[in-house]
Order: sequence, then C-alpha cells, then structure tokens
Amino acid sequence: MPGSASGSPPRGAAPGALAAAQHLAALVPPLRFAARDGFAGLPRLSGFGELVQGAVARAREAGAPDSAALRGLSAEAERFEARPLAEKRQALLRVAGHLSALVPVPEELRELAARGRVARGEGKGTSTATSTATATSTATSTATSTPTSTPTSTSATIRPARGSPSLHSPSPPPGERARERGPLGESAVASPPPPRDAKERAARRARLRTKLAELPRAHPAPRALLEERGYLTVEDALAFWPKAYQDRARASTLAELRAGEPGIAVGEVRSAKQARMRSGKPLLRVDLADATGRLDLVFFNPPPWRAKQLTAGETLLVSGKVTEGFGGRRQMSQPEVEKLSPGDSANFGRIVPFYAGPADYQHPALRKLMKRLCDELAPFTVDDLPADVRARRELLPAGQALREAHFPPEGTDPAAAAERATPAFRRLVFEELFFLQLALAQRRRGLRRDPGIAFAAGPEEVARATALLPFQLTGAQRRALDEIARDMARPEPMHRLLQGDVGSGKTAVAFAAMMLAVRSGHQAALMAPTEILAEQHARTMRRWLEGTGVELALVGASARGKAQRDARAALASGKARLAVGTHALIEEDVGLDRLGLVVVDEQHRFGVLQRAKLIGKGGRPDVLVMTATPIPRTLALAFYGDLDQSKIDELPPGRTPVETKVFGDSQRKRAYELARRELEGGRQVYVVYPLVAESEKSDLADATTGAAELARVFAGHEVALLHGQMKADEKDAVMARFRAGEVGVLVATTVIEVGVDVPNATVMIVEHAERFGLSQLHQLRGRVGRGAARSHCLLVAHFKRTSDEARERLRVMEATQDGFELARADLRIRGPGELVGTRQSGQKLFAIADLYRDEAILEEAREEAFALVEADPELRRPEHAAAAEALAERWAGRLSLAQIG
Ligand code: ADP
Ligand code: MG
Repeated sequence: MPGSASGSPPRGAAPGALAAAQHLAALVPPLRFAARDGFAGLPRLSGFGELVQGAVARAREAGAPDSAALRGLSAEAERFEARPLAEKRQALLRVAGHLSALVPVPEELRELAARGRVARGEGKGTSTATSTATATSTATSTATSTPTSTPTSTSATIRPARGSPSLHSPSPPPGERARERGPLGESAVASPPPPRDAKERAARRARLRTKLAELPRAHPAPRALLEERGYLTVEDALAFWPKAYQDRARASTLAELRAGEPGIAVGEVRSAKQARMRSGKPLLRVDLADATGRLDLVFFNPPPWRAKQLTAGETLLVSGKVTEGFGGRRQMSQPEVEKLSPGDSANFGRIVPFYAGPADYQHPALRKLMKRLCDELAPFTVDDLPADVRARRELLPAGQALREAHFPPEGTDPAAAAERATPAFRRLVFEELFFLQLALAQRRRGLRRDPGIAFAAGPEEVARATALLPFQLTGAQRRALDEIARDMARPEPMHRLLQGDVGSGKTAVAFAAMMLAVRSGHQAALMAPTEILAEQHARTMRRWLEGTGVELALVGASARGKAQRDARAALASGKARLAVGTHALIEEDVGLDRLGLVVVDEQHRFGVLQRAKLIGKGGRPDVLVMTATPIPRTLALAFYGDLDQSKIDELPPGRTPVETKVFGDSQRKRAYELARRELEGGRQVYVVYPLVAESEKSDLADATTGAAELARVFAGHEVALLHGQMKADEKDAVMARFRAGEVGVLVATTVIEVGVDVPNATVMIVEHAERFGLSQLHQLRGRVGRGAARSHCLLVAHFKRTSDEARERLRVMEATQDGFELARADLRIRGPGELVGTRQSGQKLFAIADLYRDEAILEEAREEAFALVEADPELRRPEHAAAAEALAERWAGRLSLAQIG
C-alpha cells in the first residue's frame, strides 16, 4: 500500500494521533540521512534502533492504534544495531515501508519503501526498473560507489551537492572503495600494500608532496586557507592538526533538545529575520524546524555573511547550549552553524575536527578537503618507523594515524583527541621524538668513535684533586665527580652534562675535574658566559690553587694590554695549565695546544659552533657542559640526548631557604622597607633591572634612574650601579667593593644574573619581575641565601602590563624553591624554546610533540632509537631503509635546530 502524498493528514486521525504521528515523523530525517546517495550515511548512523524504539513507544503512549506497520517498525528496531551493513540497508527499506504506511513521508522515502517491496518480491511499486537495479546492487554490497540519482522531488529540502563529485562523493564502506577514482586520476585503494623498494617509497613520498594547487577539483576556498598558513602540499596540509573536535555521530531531533543542556541537531531554516536589539545593535533571528519541532537561533551582531548563510530552505547542523527563550520557546544563542549537504561524510555523522583560525562557515569545505586528503592520499604515506618498533610500541600505521588524527574513529572522546591523548597522536608524537633521538644517538656514536685521551683519574687522583678544596664535597658532588672521573679515565672522549641547581657547587666539581686533566699533563679550559663570571671563577680557582704552583690564565675579551698578552703567552707555551675566560677563549690568538678538558659553564648560552670551535683547539678534548638552568629530564633527553648526564641534586650544608614574595608596583615601598632593615643589620642588597632587547639604552636609563632613586631611599648606605656597558675594570672595581661590603646596594642590569657569589647579600629585589622567565628568576634568587642568614627575594611586578602567563610564573616562584619543579613549570607555561635558548629562531622545534605532556612517549622513543643505532649504526639494513631516508630527507633540517648543546 503506497503512502499518501506528503502534506495530507495522517490516516485515521483519531484524538492523539497527531502527537503520535509527530513522534514517528521524527524518524524521517535520520532515515533520509542514512539512505541518501546510495546509503552513504548508513555507516555513520548510530543509535537508530533505539531511536525507532523510542518513537514507537511514544507513539503508542500518545494513542497510536496497534498496527502491522507499528509492530513491524518495532521488530526492525530491535534487531537493527546487530545487523551487518548490507542487512541494515534491507532493514532501512522495510523501515521506510512501515513508516510510509503510518505517516506522510517525502518522495524519496516512498521510493525507498517501494524498492523494499520490489526486492522482497511483493510486486511492483511505483518505481521503475532502475530503482530495482539500484536496490539490488546496493543490497548485495558489490556496487561501486556511484551515488544513486538525487531525487527529483522539489519538496526535498536538502539540495543536491554542488561542487566536484569527488569532494562530495560519499565515503563508501571500506570493502567498496577499491575502484574509486583517486584525486590524481589513478585508482585509489583503501589500504595500499606497503612499498616494496626504495623506488616505490620515493614515488609515494613524492605523491604526498603533491602541491595542493595541483590537486584536481580541490575547492579553492579551503585550499587558500591552507596555503595562507604555509601548508602548500598534501603532506603539509595533513600536518595542520585540529585544535578541537566535536562528536556529531548522532544529532538530536529538535524535540529532543533540552533547555539548559548543550545540543547538536539538524533542521531546516524556515525563515531568517534581521532585527535590532534594544541597544540598536543588529540581531539575526532564525526559525529552524524539523519534523519534530522548532528551535530559535539568535545571532547578536552578525557579520554580513551570516544572513547569506542562513537563508530559508537550507539544512543546518547547529550546536550550542539550548536555553529557554521568549515565551518558553527553546533557543540557541550564537550557535555554531554549518550548512549540510547530502552525502557529506566529512561534517556529519562522525567526530569532526575544528582547526585553529577558520570561521565556522569555512569549516565544512575545509573538512571536506581534509577528509579527501585523509581518505585518498594519507594511505600512501610511507611508514618511516621500522615495523618491529611499531609492533613493540603498539603504534598505528602512519596513514591511519594521520587519518584518525583528523577524523577520530567512533567512540573517541573528543576531549582526549584535543589533548592529543589518542592512539593516532601517540603514533605521530612518537615518530617525531623517535627521529630526534635517532639523530642524537647517531651523533653520540660518532663522537664515541673518535680517539680521546685516557687521563689518570683513579680514586687517588680524585682524592688529591678534591683535597685542594676548602670543604668536603657533598654526596651529590662526589657522585657527579666520580662519574666524570670514570669518563675521563676512558680513552673515548667524554661528553657529559653536569646539571645542578643554582649554588649546588658545580664550580668545585669542575675544578677537581680540571685538576685531573692538569695532573695528567694537559691543559684545561673553563668557558663562562660573562666576564664577571669568568673573573669570579678565576679568583675562586686561584685561591684553591694556592701552594700548588699550577698557573691559571684569565683570558679577557681583548688581547690588548700587557696582562692579556702575558696570559695568552703563558697558555701558548704551556706554562699556564688552566684557562678561564669567556668566548674570548675561542679566539684565534689563544693557543691551547695541550687542551685535554673543556668545561662549558652555563652551557645554554653558547651555540654549538662555539663549543665545537673550542673543542677543535686540542686533539679531541673531553667536554663537560655545566648548566645551572635545571633542565627537566624530558628536555635533557630531547636536546642533549647525546650527552651523558650527571646531576647535583643536593645543596651544600648551611643554606637557608629564600623567602619569595611578589609585590605590585605600588607596594614597592614595602619591599624597600624590608631591604632597609637588612641593610641596617649589616647585610647587602641586589636590585636588578631587566634587559629589554630592543634598546640597551632604555635599560640603562631604567637602571640609572633606579639607582639615583634608590640612593635617596637608602640614604646612608652606598648604592652602586653595574651594567653591561661599563668597562671591564670599572665593573671589577664595583664588584670588588660589593664583595668587600663597602657597597650596600648593588643596582644592576642582568649582568649579575649568573654565578655571583656574595654570601653576605640577603635581599634580591627584581624590578619588572614579570618580564623575566622562571629560570631567570630562579637564577637571580640563587644569588641570595648563600650564607646562613635568612634571605629574601622580592619580585616587583607591574601588574597592569602583566600577562596571565607572567602572573602564573610569579605565583610559581612564590610557591616553590625547587629548581627542577620550576623548570617543569616553565616548560608547561612557556614551552621548551626559552629554556634551551632557541626561541629567537622563531621556529617551533616540534610540530606535534609536547615535552611536558609527552614525557613517557619520549622515553620510549629514546629507548628504541638508541637500540636501533646500537644494532644498525648506519641504518643499512633493508628494514631500516625507510627510517634512514626519512632521517635524511624529512627530519635533518628540523633537527639541525635542535643541535644547541
Ligand atoms: P653553582 O655554580 O653550582 O651555582 P657554586 O659552585 O658557585 O655553585 O657554589 C656555590 C657556593 O657554595 C660557593 O661559595 C662554593 O664555594 C660553595 N660550596 C660548593 N660546594 C660546597 C660544599 N661541598 N660545601 C660547602 N660549600 C660549598
Ligand atoms: Mg656556577
């Protein structure tokens, strides 16, 4: 019994029948969605059985008389979810039949119902032989994915797809895509077999590097969006990671939306009206409807394109919080809105991605393009990870990972995907970190192979060296020194990172190591980041050297002057065994022929080139890199994976914790009061002004006015200024007077940032603290608290100009003194750039990995990478060929950035 024409009232209009009909009519949109274009929507139809059950139950409650059709619906619903796809199609045909017997349905569903009857041999319906053929072919699931012709019915509110057929063609279930035409004209296979040889790999890599501009039939708008952002090729575009996701596996009917809850629904625009708010600002009010009900959409101050987007007759997907509007009508204010077109598998019926930047109206086309890249090209990605690594670490194949990063599979938690905590992202992050570690592992191996010096560095020699120090090493210093000594005793060159919080006593350890080199007949050099520090190290070490007859040369920035000429001559002749200096040490005129050990202090300030140059002075000296910037393990692994590490995780005895307090600009007086009390108690004070890169002059101006002001505030105490533009001997003189206690308040630009050691100083005031990074602040704080007296670190922040990020930093400073905890916080707040000094490069080191978040993955990647290089150092084995190519072609450029150490 064919259904009546749409628009006529439901049959047997008994009381309550209207309500019953409405409940059943709610099934029309999902059914239509699933059946359209050769059942394109079916794989994404979820919860349909339940939906039908619910509708039947509500219809019964509303008084729908029992009927074969109603019972039939119920029966189909019960079994629906468990059926395989092909049977679901058949079931949908029957559902359409039952439904059309109960309520008015659109033409296309009537046609569907008729097909069902034909397929079951129930006699000819209204449709022709063509639809019979279609029904048969779809039912047997052997069809190519040619969409069924769009119904000609003018009542169809979902308009036929515009644009290229390829972009809009439905995504058929996996088994059916074998003969689909790919975007480049070749036939695309769902999951191509892995490439057999280098040639095939090269061809596939080239294919992934296809320019978006060369992609046939690609929509220009999303293409432009990607190209504007620098994503020019398919490969680039696939690395434009979504920033968020939304689960659109199932939309509600409008009747199901509940006020007070977020909702996603599909409806048709009945009307859109421009209005004005009471303030006079424009307002757009849209009346949305489906078979079950209505919803008001309200847009405040809509941009001009909005009204064009929302014209009557459009089918929209809306998402937002449902509220109760005027007169109890449900509404969504400022919802996210997207136009739906038939067969669109990129924007509906699944978890869909959102990208950073594009507006919501730009998303549908962008997603379609991305989906196409994911479906048709991503499968050709060469998997660069060795198969055994992938198996051991349970990593997805590369192509699948790319696809699922953009379009997560059903059941994925959208929030987890946004956090990149899904198997797809795990694979992608792993890959990135794996190749970084692979490069580091190879570098380390290369270094190991060079012949180095085997120093006399047994326990006796170590004891002799430490005997020169005026104190006992702490346990942590001892352990670090033992590790260093063991390395030095071996013939391979040492390459070790010594980490220790500010004030942990790295200098003493370095000195002992240098003495091991000297006593083995070599020279040792210590490179410091600033002149002041170099001088301080020289002074300290000369004191420790008293009575040994070992000479130390302090190399200054300029070779002029007698002292400097003497120093250089002493080094060149080998008379001076120890050299201390800044990067002046690497100048051509400094001869260090017998150089056996290089210690680089505050390593992150030096470029790898500088270090290499110094290393190049001797044969193949051992290298000890010291850093007071506590580097979280993750970061150390990521960037210094080629260095061995020692850590001093204990402070020398007698230290007292430093109290840290943040003051607003206007509370500065209170900080000064505290400082004055300390001055009166015979203590000393630092006041630090930040360095603002743009203009050294203005920094100086800041510090200069500051010093003048402070001279008034602390009248009766000597206030001195120290800054980077002073001549070396002027700086020396000021430092000497501060060390001697003659200067009470040392006002400085950041020259005192590292390493200055004056135990009597108990107050550190930092001006514009909001401009400093956490590790910098921690360094500054480390200047006080070096004696037994209680010390204070007072951070003065100009809150008006302070970002949330900076506020968070200052809070962290108040809360903790643990350098490692701070470094972790810094990593979390600012990312790794600042810590390792690469931020200037303006480039992100990692496209997708986040060292803070992905620490565990990094460990795994490191293990695998180092094991791989151990087993196959040159990556010569065929199973490592793809990895070798990837390292050379894809990662080399990016990795050179990481070579900071
Ligand atoms: P770092 O360079 O690690 O910041 P330093 O080497 O400058 O630290 O040491 C800080 C201060 O602690 C110096 O005055 C140093 O002489 C002193 N010191 C170092 N090791 C010890 C120790 N084991 N016992 C007592 N004082 C120590
Ligand atoms: Mg130091």
